[in-house]
Amino acid sequence: MPLTDIEIARAAKKRPIQEIGEKAGIGAADLLPYGHDKAKVSQRFIDSVKDRPNGKLILVTAINPTPAGEGKTTTTVGLGDGLNAIGKKAMICIREASLGPNFGMKGGAAGGGYAQIVPMEDMNLHFTGDFHAITSAHSLLAAMIDNHIYWGNELEIDIRRVVWRRVVDMNDRALRQITASLGGVANGFPREAGFDITVASEVMACLCLATDLADLQRRLGDMIVAYRRDRTPIYCRDIKADGAMTVLLKDAMQPNLVQTLENNPAFVHGGPFANIAHGCNSVIATTTALKLADFVVTEAGFGADLGAEKFMNIKCRKAGIAPDCVVLVATVRAMKMNGGVAKADLGAENVEAVKAGCANLGRHIGNVKSFGVPVVVAINHFTGDTEAEVQAVKDYVQTQGSEAIVSKHWADGSKGSEALARRVAEIAEAGTANFAPIYPDDMPLFQKIETIAKRIYHADEVLADKKIRDQLRAWEEQGYGALPICMAKTQYSFSTDPNLRGAPTGHSVPVREVRLSAGAGFVVVICGEIMTMPGLPRVPSAEKIGLNEAGEIEGLF
Ligand code: ADP
Ligand code: MG
Repeated sequence: MPLTDIEIARAAKKRPIQEIGEKAGIGAADLLPYGHDKAKVSQRFIDSVKDRPNGKLILVTAINPTPAGEGKTTTTVGLGDGLNAIGKKAMICIREASLGPNFGMKGGAAGGGYAQIVPMEDMNLHFTGDFHAITSAHSLLAAMIDNHIYWGNELEIDIRRVVWRRVVDMNDRALRQITASLGGVANGFPREAGFDITVASEVMACLCLATDLADLQRRLGDMIVAYRRDRTPIYCRDIKADGAMTVLLKDAMQPNLVQTLENNPAFVHGGPFANIAHGCNSVIATTTALKLADFVVTEAGFGADLGAEKFMNIKCRKAGIAPDCVVLVATVRAMKMNGGVAKADLGAENVEAVKAGCANLGRHIGNVKSFGVPVVVAINHFTGDTEAEVQAVKDYVQTQGSEAIVSKHWADGSKGSEALARRVAEIAEAGTANFAPIYPDDMPLFQKIETIAKRIYHADEVLADKKIRDQLRAWEEQGYGALPICMAKTQYSFSTDPNLRGAPTGHSVPVREVRLSAGAGFVVVICGEIMTMPGLPRVPSAEKIGLNEAGEIEGLF
């Protein structure tokens, strides 16, 4: 039996966080330690490196996820260790974990095998309290809105049109729709309300896109919380919550420094949902890492059609950064599933299915290139993959004008990822990237949606009611026309049908709803059912999690 992720993580030979800081060029005085193996980085330090040149930015993304698992985070960590192993100064930037999914069924957020961030238990649980701070800031605003209504509602909030929901960092479907303020005069005015999971909060998106605390407060103030009867918006600023919320978020805004199993520095910071938000590590962590390292490896959530598209069109555009190389993660198992093999039969060699399943990969290669960025495919190696299957993927990728490199970081750490690291460094250093977002700021909102649907999803058309088109036009008139689009659709397909694998064409993209995230600074376009409060499965993994006799955590991956 191979060791589990938590067994490997527990055996890690961690170095004191001050040593890791030193490796990244951060002095002990600028580290705010949380125990021995985690620290936040002071704002003073972040300000002091602002004028340094940027290192190279590597984005790790993937094909559309399958139940076989792709391993983006694992590859991000493995590649970061690989770059360090070949003598490059590299840092890793990934997202923090949400509590909810840990107790449901998804794996952890720290990578896997011999490519992990430690302390993985902390990172997957309370960590440095950032998500608690975000939950508290979000809750403060929710409480202040109902309090405003209770004390006379001077702003004339239409209590049927309060759009600020509540959040908790748990998968709890019972809270999706609730009735609030029951119990008589002393408890306010009963109204419908509901909970989202913390990572879906706009506060999270604001924190992840803000450049500093002043920018964070401005974004929080800009968030729309409710409407009046005449449909005019009421902002967080009108409720006067933005100042206190920023106070609650003061420490959460600072990036968290931790280490890999091989003692290389990593910033684990922020965790916006990859559907109704943009799904990548915070701007402040990524831009700071770029000042400290020659190579920064970061990850975007879901497949490249959602994650990389938003990384480029939202995060890079807004933060003024650009990837020098994109690593597209694929697995033989996922190719087989795309080629029609059932999950139970993935163990058997099936070269024909691998070949048949490669179309999805090819589509992503072309899409990433259309941003002007070079792409290399990382075949994240699973022990059962055969030579012939791996070769089939390599051959296919070559026909797409790209190259595929096998990486065995999961089994072997940096020894397994050196080849990938060498090639990625070569490509990034060659400086051939000529990045540009695929739509300009001044393009009308609906046309931006069409551009994404046609160029990235390869759809024929976008379907939207007059009501939705009118709403987009109204936002343009109110001055929101220059915002980027944040697409929210299924991660399993290029289309809006989760069962349509491969590289579909001729489909249409129906827009169900549009939402303005005025603080985060994007227009969310919802295509299909989008879950902002997940539920637990029939047998939640929480049932198997507990402490052993030594007081160690068991069952957490
Ligand atoms: P993603 O970031 O794409 O969601 P992760 O990197 O978090 O994926 O990996 C998901 C799970 O798959 C983790 O539990 C990890 O241990 C496992 N995994 C990743 N790569 C491999 C591999 N090469 N062999 C076996 N298991 C792997
Ligand atoms: Mg991941």
